[in-house]
Amino acid sequence: MLEEKMVTCPECGSQRSYKDGIRYTRTGEIQRYLCRDCGYRFSFLHKCKI
Ligand SMILES: [Zn+2]
Repeated sequence: MLEEKMVTCPECGSQRSYKDGIRYTRTGEIQRYLCRDCGYRFSFLHKCKI
């Protein structure tokens, strides 16, 4: 079960980012985010335990 967690936009520092989708790679899942304030797209590696 995934829990919503606050992510900070690396571009403007806003915490009003939302999930833009999940990208699957050989190394694992990458959760993509889209910043609501500046429109910047960024992603984090999705690890098992966070
Ligand atoms: Zn932003």
